[in-house]
Amino acid sequence: AAEHQYDFVIVGGGIAGVTCAETLAALEPDARVLIVSASPVVKAVTNLRPVTKLLEEFDVEERPLAEFQRQQRQRSGCGSVSVLHASCTGFNAETRQLRASLANPEPSAAGEAAEVRIGYGELCLCTGASPKLIPQARQHPDLVVGIRDTETVADLSKKLSTCRRVLVVGNGGIATELVYELRNVDVVWAVRQDSIGAVFFDAGAAQFLLPSLARPGGARVDKPGVTKHRRFQLAEDSAPPPLKQQRQQEQQQMRQQFPGSALGPDWSSGFKLSGCVGASSRSAETPTSTATPASAPTSAPTSAPTSAPTSAATLTSAPTSALPSAPTLTPTSASTPAPSSTSASAPTAAPAATAATSAGDAAETRIIYSVEVVSLLSPKEAAELLPTDTTAPTDSWPVFAALSNGELLGVDLIVSATGVTPTALLADGGVGPALDAEGAVAVDRGMRSSLAHVFAAGDACGCAGWSSDGETSSAAEETRLWFQMRLWSQARQTGSFAARCMSAARRGESPPPLDIGFELFTHVTRFFSYKIVLLGLYNAQGLASGEYEALLRVTPGVEYVKCVMHNGRMQGCVLIGETDLEETFENLILNQLDLSQFGEHLLDPGVDIDDYFD
Ligand code: FAD
Repeated sequence: AAEHQYDFVIVGGGIAGVTCAETLAALEPDARVLIVSASPVVKAVTNLRPVTKLLEEFDVEERPLAEFQRQQRQRSGCGSVSVLHASCTGFNAETRQLRASLANPEPSAAGEAAEVRIGYGELCLCTGASPKLIPQARQHPDLVVGIRDTETVADLSKKLSTCRRVLVVGNGGIATELVYELRNVDVVWAVRQDSIGAVFFDAGAAQFLLPSLARPGGARVDKPGVTKHRRFQLAEDSAPPPLKQQRQQEQQQMRQQFPGSALGPDWSSGFKLSGCVGASSRSAETPTSTATPASAPTSAPTSAPTSAPTSAATLTSAPTSALPSAPTLTPTSASTPAPSSTSASAPTAAPAATAATSAGDAAETRIIYSVEVVSLLSPKEAAELLPTDTTAPTDSWPVFAALSNGELLGVDLIVSATGVTPTALLADGGVGPALDAEGAVAVDRGMRSSLAHVFAAGDACGCAGWSSDGETSSAAEETRLWFQMRLWSQARQTGSFAARCMSAARRGESPPPLDIGFELFTHVTRFFSYKIVLLGLYNAQGLASGEYEALLRVTPGVEYVKCVMHNGRMQGCVLIGETDLEETFENLILNQLDLSQFGEHLLDPGVDIDDYFD
């Protein structure tokens, strides 16, 4: 029999889990709600700010479990949520019980992870996801880092302090933000696509943002008035030293198994992300050339996309450095297909990748497009690969990355930001809920997994099947402009909706209809100090080329507006800068108004779409 019994149990204390638990406590004040959290802190949404009807900004606070529990007891008008610091090790969907290892067992049981059995009425898996590292990371675990939670950023910050050159691999939000935030370290950014930030931007938007990565005068200046969210820090444990040490060891073990909650916007702001490239270690010599991206169109609207940047851009205005340079194998053009095998066969010591210096932040950012890491080599392996007459020293770098463009790049550290893998929790006997192709718990439109009374939300759940799950075509139409991207806002959205579905299940009712929030993909964030709003099919997701046209309005350094149009109706948009268009465009997309009468002039500064809409 279970030692504890709850009406609702939620595994995971990230945004999805906490939102789910708090919504359940509000909907079912008499119910017993429990969060089982492997992490000593939970994430709470605070300071919610509506931007439009569907778009909202919020801050996230990390709260130690005891503090969260205290606050829950003080909430009036709704039930309270209990928390258990433990990792769930399995569950039995037939007996509706889960097993959990306590993180801080009683002192008498020191060293042994005490296990408890918890009975549930409805269970929600909000176990998040883990960073997907490049496959070569296994060979060099200390030299390849991924970013997920506060601990991993603290680890990165520590390792960075002695770094001269870092290779950042990946082209999503984390890599894009990291490259912008790194200071005093040469950055080589290897992206698989032919433009930066490809998960969020098309080539035109990427080009608009590219100048922000240059470091004129050695320092990058943030735009004034840009809000920074809260800072994340490692929570302090006030326990006496022996107990604290024991807890640290246990938590370390638990972290290896279950990473902490994912960070979110401004995750980097509480940490020093700085290398050791300082003015003193550099000589001020010949300036390198500055690769300026092809100029973006001016404010005239156009339906033609802007061209992609050149194959490799070095963004610096600082002079060259005295640092040992990276030998390169025969460089190939970015557009050349990547060799599939190991490193290039006929290496030549080509001129080095440049590094840069000047006063202040002297480091350089170099972007290599259409490239992948083929293998990682030790200095000895790299030396063997290079021709014997090579003068370039290989022992000055702890690791070398052989890239698919033929380049062999010596670096101090590699940051792998290549996406996430959802964390699946197995049921007893190895039988878990059905997973989708990405390894997420496949859920239906009622957030239900394939197992009875088991729901999932946040990064751990997979909604990809919604478009082909046998629902009616009107249901598919309802969510045509929404898709899952494992974002903070979506963790909150799915967590809250899962709670409503679980509440219905407790009452023996069918799941409620989807919230209006599922009618339109919405995301607001900041990259490179610009406000970024993404609505609907902002990158023409699911639309065949020729099936849509993109209208653009670009004022370099100020704003980038792109609308995706299909049959005269707006399907999505990208708004960069303070455009003030989000509310109007959200309405235009939701209402699918026929805008064909405006043609290409929809974005003309002289056309007041607001007036038309009103
Ligand atoms: P998580 O926050 O990962 O929480 C899962 C929790 O489950 C963890 O606490 C974990 O310890 C716990 N857990 C796992 N297994 C078990 C178990 N067996 N037993 C008990 N507990 C368990 N999103 C945005 O919208 N905008 C951004 O700018 C943005 N930036 C990001 C930057 C970084 C560096 C990262 C890593 C993510 C970013 N995201 C961003 C994504 C966003 O943070 C996630 O989508 C969101 O936080 C996921 O929330 P979650 O609750 O589903 O999962």
